[in-house]
Amino acid sequence: MGKIDLQGMDIEEITNLLKQLQEPEYRARQLFQWIHQKAAISFAEMTNIPKSLQAKLASLRVFEPPKIAKIRQSQLDDTVKYLLTLSDGNTVETVRMSYLGKDIKDRHTVCVSSQVGCAMGCVFCATGLSGWRRNLTTGEILAQVLMAQRELQKASSEEKITNVVFMGMGEPLLNYENVLKAIHLLNNPLGLNIGMRKITVSTCGLVPQIYKLAEEKLPIVLAISLHAPIDMLRNKLLPINKKYPIKMLMEACRHYIQSTGRRITFEYALIADVNDSIHHAEKLANILSGLNANVNLIPLNNVEDNVEGTGLRRSSKSKAQAFLNNLKRAGIEATFREEKGSDIEAACGQLRRRGVEEDVFS
Ligand code: SAH
Ligand code: SF4
Repeated sequence: MGKIDLQGMDIEEITNLLKQLQEPEYRARQLFQWIHQKAAISFAEMTNIPKSLQAKLASLRVFEPPKIAKIRQSQLDDTVKYLLTLSDGNTVETVRMSYLGKDIKDRHTVCVSSQVGCAMGCVFCATGLSGWRRNLTTGEILAQVLMAQRELQKASSEEKITNVVFMGMGEPLLNYENVLKAIHLLNNPLGLNIGMRKITVSTCGLVPQIYKLAEEKLPIVLAISLHAPIDMLRNKLLPINKKYPIKMLMEACRHYIQSTGRRITFEYALIADVNDSIHHAEKLANILSGLNANVNLIPLNNVEDNVEGTGLRRSSKSKAQAFLNNLKRAGIEATFREEKGSDIEAACGQLRRRGVEEDVFS
């Protein structure tokens, strides 16, 4: 992984670094709290850290958070999209969605990227169409949430990021170790203290990693991008299905539910005349029957000059409603996912790998 990055280190690792620098160990907790709890982005803010230590750490270049290259605010809802420049010049997109409740507590969700691009090549997804470059480090994953937290507290010091979803760019289970460590750091009570149950990992269905994740026994939410209930169709939409067909995937899911005691969310983007018929709904209900699962129906989002180019369109409202009714009638719990930030290409599947110079934000 090369570079040491304070944003991706736990207290023990920071302690070891301080030992090597012959600095007092108790500073590790202070540094950790500045970075994670207060979302600091410079040593200068860390008032209880001596200037000499600040200078020493700064000279080692162990704390150089990604920079915000662009910010886009949705005019439709409380969604903000950030383009971040990483230390090697690559860029990733991060989205914050806020649900401001009248009767319920505000919820602020950050949708994080786990890779620069994605190698899975799902045909309806902008990230998949833009190819894969590399995994993000743990620090780069954390940096996205910490940046969102910092931006949020600028507006109101009371507000806190409450949820994190690994639904940005990339396939989180192909960056397994870094994602897992990021989850633990997000959950750290001395840091952001985000509950495990408020963290969602979404995968296109990597069977061996689902078995591995089951062994971690974390109460996180696992979401599976299913999108089709039959292999012939899923093979076309998500090429990974050729390696891990539906039967194999469902066995892994069954095992995951049994060993963690947690239910699984299945994501299903409704595509007009492709996967939205009564027959598909029945098939879907069939493969999910008896499983502790729920279905999240997503309206297919446009992926400019890609999805339109492939001729994929979202299902009509009435078709989508009929699909939902059919699932419910078959005893499957299902809901529509609220659409957020579609005017700024911040909705599911719209994030892509791009250069800052492409100025698609303007
Ligand atoms: N790689 C992971 C997580 C990122 S994608 C995964 O595939 O699960 C987050 C969700 O958005 C996935 O369910 C994905 O299938 C869905 N998605 C991708 N492109 C979409 C589009 N154009 N419209 C709606 N949902 C899309
Ligand atoms: Fe990758 Fe997920 Fe997009 Fe598929 S849907 S290409 S796995 S980011």
